[in-house]
Amino acid sequence: MVSQVMSGGLFGVQCRTVRVECDVSNGLPVFEMVGKLSNEVREAAKRVRVAFRNEDIILPPKRITINLAPADEPKEGTGYDLAIALGLLKALDLLPQDCLEECFVAGELALDGSVCRIRGVLPMVIKARECGMRTCILPYENLKEAEAVGEVNILGVRTLGEIIAVLRGEKVLSSEGEQTAESRSDDTVYPDFSDIHGQEGLKRAMTIAAAGFHNLLMIGPPGAGKTMAAKRLPGILPPIGKEESLEVSAVYSAAGLLDNGHCLIRKRPFVAPHHTATVHSLAGGGRVPSPGLISRAHKGVLFLDEAVHFNAQTLEVLRQPMEDKKIRIDRSTGGCEFPADFMLLAAINPCPCGNFPDPNLCRCTDEQVKKYLAKLSGPLLDRIDICVEMNRLKSSDLNGHKSGDGGMDSASMRELVLKAREKQKERFKALKIDFNAQMGSKDIEEMIVLDEKERKFMEKAYERMHLSIRSYHKILRVARTIADIEGAENIGLMHLQEALCYRSIEERYWK
Ligand SMILES: [Zn+2]
Repeated sequence: MVSQVMSGGLFGVQCRTVRVECDVSNGLPVFEMVGKLSNEVREAAKRVRVAFRNEDIILPPKRITINLAPADEPKEGTGYDLAIALGLLKALDLLPQDCLEECFVAGELALDGSVCRIRGVLPMVIKARECGMRTCILPYENLKEAEAVGEVNILGVRTLGEIIAVLRGEKVLSSEGEQTAESRSDDTVYPDFSDIHGQEGLKRAMTIAAAGFHNLLMIGPPGAGKTMAAKRLPGILPPIGKEESLEVSAVYSAAGLLDNGHCLIRKRPFVAPHHTATVHSLAGGGRVPSPGLISRAHKGVLFLDEAVHFNAQTLEVLRQPMEDKKIRIDRSTGGCEFPADFMLLAAINPCPCGNFPDPNLCRCTDEQVKKYLAKLSGPLLDRIDICVEMNRLKSSDLNGHKSGDGGMDSASMRELVLKAREKQKERFKALKIDFNAQMGSKDIEEMIVLDEKERKFMEKAYERMHLSIRSYHKILRVARTIADIEGAENIGLMHLQEALCYRSIEERYWK
């Protein structure tokens, strides 16, 4: 007798469906598993056998063949155990024949018959819904995460015995804890920008970066407040959309980082790897590839503090995702891709001693400064839209300031960000992009039309500053965001001048 159960495996942050076919026939008593399986999938035979025994189910002395189809795609991980066990019970006629119709099953079995949590449940349920499945049988520990998808009935099971009883109609799983993903609100309180005194230029640049999702580089001496400012950025980022939230949550699900308390990621991630981070931890990987830190910053911010201290190889990893918005992991059993569409925020000192270009304080030679800054040159610098210089704070900025006297605060910055967000929503409603920073050359040509005066100004700047086309487009993108913040329909001279100013800081240090 042959049975079929629908299951699936993780491929990047996508789920691929796998049909678990079980055949029980007369012949030598063997338990055979086929279908391009890795070792841990093959070991399911042992886990299922022992789990059965501990649930008092005796396997008859027959020939058992399990095929995981399609047979030409590699299968990895331990998530097929439960589907194999249930398929086998069905093939042995120990479950009602109609019980697993339109049903998706995944979960790992422990030897005592308990069902253990697995990675990537969120993309699995999304896939199951796509395939028209009505029910998903999943580990109880993944229940909240699975329920966040909606429109599919989820059975969260603790043990093999429990789901057998449910499928035989001997037991009903009560859905407890009605507080689902939808009803949870984000109550994180971020520190406020008003704590930072005397850096209004930086706050302006941060507002623009957050509004248009532009990559931002901060250059300044130690103690100027670079790290402080970075920590305050999440508090002014535009809210995350529903689709974006599902995408980000799928990444965290695939990394096994969604626990039952956090069923969906409801705010933009802020990921700050240490400069000792390895290529592997940033890019992701492993036997069953798990997303790295770069992907965990998807739709959020990747903050590189002391960016020049990262080693060159590590920084090189960023090149591809910053271009393609995704990162590819190549492995012997076939590659996979993780999304990596993030805003880069980087901070550096201007020279080894930190005081360049102040001639009275900086003790570095020209050669040393050049070599130091060169660590950040090339592709990474190419992708920075806004470069902002921070000055050493004057003593008047440090003293005499009572709270509430810190210039722009987070609330007023957030207000500008939201205003620009609305403008962009309207502009990009027919496109697949959300922010000005994501406009390609074609989008820029179609959507950014300068008036005569502005066009002449940019032509002059193009000649005078020897701009590349790439830099020229960068200036237009940033100028567009500045105009959006101010609610202006057309880009004006002021907007272009400010955008050009962020550009010229970069020229000053690196040219
Ligand atoms: Zn120096």
